[in-house]
Amino acid sequence: MKFVRYEVEDQKYYGIVENDKVKEIEGCIYGEYEVTDKERALDEVTLLPPVEPSKLIAIGLNYLDHVKEGGADREPPTEPLIFLKAPTSICGNGEPIIIPKQASLTHYEAEIGVVIKNKIKRVTEEEALDHALGYIVANDVSERVFQRGDGQWTRAKSFDTFCPVGDYIVTDIDPNEQKISCHLNGEVKQDSNTNNMIFNIQKIISYVSDQMTLLPGDVIITGTPAGVGPIEPGDKVRIEVEEVGVLENPVVAEA
Ligand code: MG
Repeated sequence: MKFVRYEVEDQKYYGIVENDKVKEIEGCIYGEYEVTDKERALDEVTLLPPVEPSKLIAIGLNYLDHVKEGGADREPPTEPLIFLKAPTSICGNGEPIIIPKQASLTHYEAEIGVVIKNKIKRVTEEEALDHALGYIVANDVSERVFQRGDGQWTRAKSFDTFCPVGDYIVTDIDPNEQKISCHLNGEVKQDSNTNNMIFNIQKIISYVSDQMTLLPGDVIITGTPAGVGPIEPGDKVRIEVEEVGVLENPVVAEA
C-alpha cells in the first residue's frame, strides 16, 4: 500500500494511491482509519511530504563502503550512530534543495527511511518491524564543512530543505532488501542495496527505542552507501529505492 498526504483547495488529506487515483482516508493513518470511496485523479491533487514527524532521527556510517570512503583506516561503529535532523528540514519530491548562503560544501546522501507507527519504548528486534508503518525515500543532505568543524552534526544536517522525502509511505516490503541509488544530473553516483547496511532496520528501531520514546509518525533515516558527493545550484538529484519510489529535487542557491 502507498500512503500519501495531499492538498486540494487549501484542505489537506491523507490517502492511498491505487494506479493513478488517490482515495481519501478518514481517520489517522497511525491508528484507526477508513479508506473512503472519495477518489481523485493523482494529477488533480498537490502531493505533500507524507510525514510530519515529532522527531527526525538519522543513522550515520551505516554502510561499510561509506565508512571507508571517509578514510581507509576508519572503523565502522559497533552500535548504531544516532543523530537528529530538524523536522523543518523536510521538503517534498520536486521541491528545490536550497543551498544556504553560509554553506560551502553540500553533499547528497541516498537513504531509506522508516516511519514509526506506534508509541514505542524498548522494543525488541523481533517485534520492531511490527511498529513500522512503512518506508520512504530520503536524501540526508549534509553540509560537510560544518559537519567536520562543529564537533556534532546538528547544523550541518538541519538547514531548511536538507531532508527531501519521496511522495509515498510504502508498506509491506522488505526494507532490508532494496536496491538504492543516486543519480546526479543523470550520472549514477551511488548504487547499492539496503542489505549492505551494517545495522538492519529492526536493529535500528530497537536500538533507538532503547534510547528514547518513539512516537507515531517519527522518522528514522538509516544511512547512505558510498559515492556521496557535492551538489551545486543547477544540479538535479534523483534518488531511487527499488520498491519505495523515486525522489527528484533540483538544487538552487538561497536567494
Ligand atoms: Mg546520512
